Amino acid sequence: MAASAGPEIERLISLLAKLPGLGPRSARRAALTLLKRKDQLLAPLAEAMADAAARVKVCSTCGSLDTRDPCAICADPTRDASLICVVEEVGALWAMERAGAFRGRYHVLGGLLSALDGVGPEALRIAPLVARAQDGAVKEAILALPATVDGQTTAHYLADRLAPTGVAVTSLARGVPVGGDLDWLDDGTIAQALRARRPA
Ligand SMILES: [Zn+2]
Repeated sequence: MAASAGPEIERLISLLAKLPGLGPRSARRAALTLLKRKDQLLAPLAEAMADAAARVKVCSTCGSLDTRDPCAICADPTRDASLICVVEEVGALWAMERAGAFRGRYHVLGGLLSALDGVGPEALRIAPLVARAQDGAVKEAILALPATVDGQTTAHYLADRLAPTGVAVTSLARGVPVGGDLDWLDDGTIAQALRARRPA
């Protein structure tokens, strides 16, 4: 494709095109909107991005993203430290928080076990989860993983790894569709699935 704009604009477009849900065509439209609304959109967005790039870090306890470590949830003394909700990615944690039905803490795995993609236990934050489960304060690990083959493989593996720690291992129940990603569910469905959790 011949470049129709200068190299700076082409660079902006090619970076935008890497975002999920944006192909080259929609990246061009997004870039055009940003450039036309420089003061209202482009400048504040650049500032927000620079700020996030400089300040956001991974929580060393749960693996979530925040500007501080431990993150606001891990540091909040009003959250129930006996409950850990195990999620695939930060997006699922945000979905659980939007649902507002969970007052415990989280653990972000950073992915799922996958024989096909060659993702083994050492590639995920599983050892830190087992370590947290062993510290005595934790009573229950709630597996909020997708109802996919990889999600269920991961859930079984975690149930085995957590069994010696003595914590109860449960998983989300009804309402989570097969193949469903937590991020796509409405808040009521998540709240119901959390209430109806069962032993994993
Ligand atoms: Zn945290």
